[in-house]
Amino acid sequence: MEDTTSDVCVVGGGPAGLTLALLLLRSGATVTVVERARSFEREYRGEILQPGGLALLDRLGVLPGLRERGAHELRHFRLGDSRRVLMDIDYKKLPAPHDHLLSVPQRHLLEELLDACRPYDGFTYLDGTRVSGLVEDGGAVRGAFLRDSRGERTVRARVVVGADGRYSKTRMLAGIENDRHDVFDLDVLWFKIPAPAGPTGVVRIHRSAATPALAYDSWPDRIQIGWTLPHKGYQEIAARGIEYVRAEAARALPEYADAIHEHIRALTDLTLLDVFAARARTWVRDGLVLIGDSAHTHSPLGAQGINLAIQDAAVLHPVLVRALRDGDTGAGSLAAYEQARSPDIDAVMKLQVMQSKGMFGGGRIAGALRPRVARLISRTPIGDRITRRIALGNPSIRIRDDLFRPTSRPADRSTAPCA
Ligand SMILES: Cc1cc2nc3c(=O)[nH]c(=O)nc-3n(C[C@H](O)[C@H](O)[C@H](O)COP(=O)(O)OP(=O)(O)OC[C@H]3O[C@@H](n4cnc5c(N)ncnc54)[C@H](O)[C@@H]3O)c2cc1C
Repeated sequence: MEDTTSDVCVVGGGPAGLTLALLLLRSGATVTVVERARSFEREYRGEILQPGGLALLDRLGVLPGLRERGAHELRHFRLGDSRRVLMDIDYKKLPAPHDHLLSVPQRHLLEELLDACRPYDGFTYLDGTRVSGLVEDGGAVRGAFLRDSRGERTVRARVVVGADGRYSKTRMLAGIENDRHDVFDLDVLWFKIPAPAGPTGVVRIHRSAATPALAYDSWPDRIQIGWTLPHKGYQEIAARGIEYVRAEAARALPEYADAIHEHIRALTDLTLLDVFAARARTWVRDGLVLIGDSAHTHSPLGAQGINLAIQDAAVLHPVLVRALRDGDTGAGSLAAYEQARSPDIDAVMKLQVMQSKGMFGGGRIAGALRPRVARLISRTPIGDRITRRIALGNPSIRIRDDLFRPTSRPADRSTAPCA
C-alpha cells in the first residue's frame, strides 16, 4: 500500500483528533488522521457538551451544522432525592448564546468536524486503520506504522499526535507511563429508554433509597440513564441477574419504571463504564504529543471529557503551528502545550473528586452535609464560580484564527504548509 507524508499524523478521529486536524488544516498544514473505526456509531460515548466547548466549536464554524444534525438543549443541572430538589444549577445565568448544555450524539459532532476537514487537499483520512508502531529516528518520532485489512503502510510526519483515547496505543508505543487513579467509589451502567413525555431540558442526578442514577435527554427521543454501582462491583451485580438490575434501576428512577421494565431485557442492553481518572506522566516527546483522553482521563460525571479534548486541541494548535514553522518539533518546543494545560487538568481532576463525593457519596455524614453544600453551590458567589469553572473550563482558551490561512482551501492553495 502507498505510504503517505504529512506535516502531522493524528492517531484517533475522536473529538480531540478531529478538532486539532481542522485547526491545523486551516493553518495550512497537511494532516493525516488515522482512525481505527469505520463508522461513528458510538452509542455509549460522551453526549453532553459544556458551554466552553460550544463556544470553541462556534468559533470554528461547526456549531450551526452540528445543531442541525440534531441535539437537545439542557438548561438545568439538578440534584434531588425522593422528597426535594437539593441543587438546581441554572445554565441560563451564563452569558448567552452559550448558556446551556447540549446533548448531541457524538456521531453528529465527529461527522460535522470530518466534513469540515474534507475539502482541504492537505487532508488524508484513513479509517478502518490502526497504528501498530512508531517510526523513530535518533529517539525522535517521525511517523507511524499502520495496519488495515489490506496490509501495512507508513505515514511519515514531523509530529505524531496521540488522540486515541483512554487506552491509547500511541501512548503505549511511545513508552509513556499512565498513572491510573481509582479515586471514584462508583462505576456506571448506561442504557437508553424511550422518553415517555418528550425532552425535559434537565440533567438530573437522582438520589433515593436505591443507588443514585443520572438521566438526561438523548437525541432524538430517548432518555439516557446512568445507573451507578459500587466501583468494581459489576460481577456481583451481574450474578444477581437482570431482574435485580431492572428492579433497582426502576427503584432509583420511579417515573421511568415502566419503560425500564419494558425495554431492558438482558444484561447485554447495558454498557458498563469503568470510572477512573488517569494521567500520562508526560504529554510530549521529541516529535510526539498526547491530547484528550490519551493524556488525561476523567470521570464522565461532570461531562468534562469532550470539552477538555476540544480545549486541548485549541491550546496545542498555536504550539504546533510555531513548531512546524520553526522546524523544531522537539520535546522542548512542544512542552509549551503541557505547561499551559497541566494546571487546568489538575484543577478539573480535583473538582471531579469533590463533585463525585458530594453527589454520590454514601454514609450519614455525607447525607447530612449534602443539602448544605448543595445550597451553597446553588445560591452563593462561590457556587457561581464553581459552576462557571465546570461550564466554561479555562475561559482564556481561544481559537487562534489569526493563524488561519485564507489560501489553504483546495481551490486556491498556493503556499507551503506552515513553512
Ligand atoms: C460512557 C461515557 C459517557 C461519557 N459522557 C461524557 C459526557 O457526557 N460529556 C463529556 O464531555 N464526556 C463524556 N465522556 C468522556 C468523553 O467521551 C471523552 O472524554 C472524549 O470522547 C475524549 O475524546 P478523545 O478524542 O480524547 O478520545 P475518544 O473519544 O476516545 O476518541 C479516540 C479515537 O481514537 C480511535 N482509536 C483508538 N485506538 C486507536 C488505534 N490504535 N489506532 C487508530 N485509532 C484508534 C478510537 O476509535 C476513537 O475514535 C464519556 C465517556 C464515556 C465512555
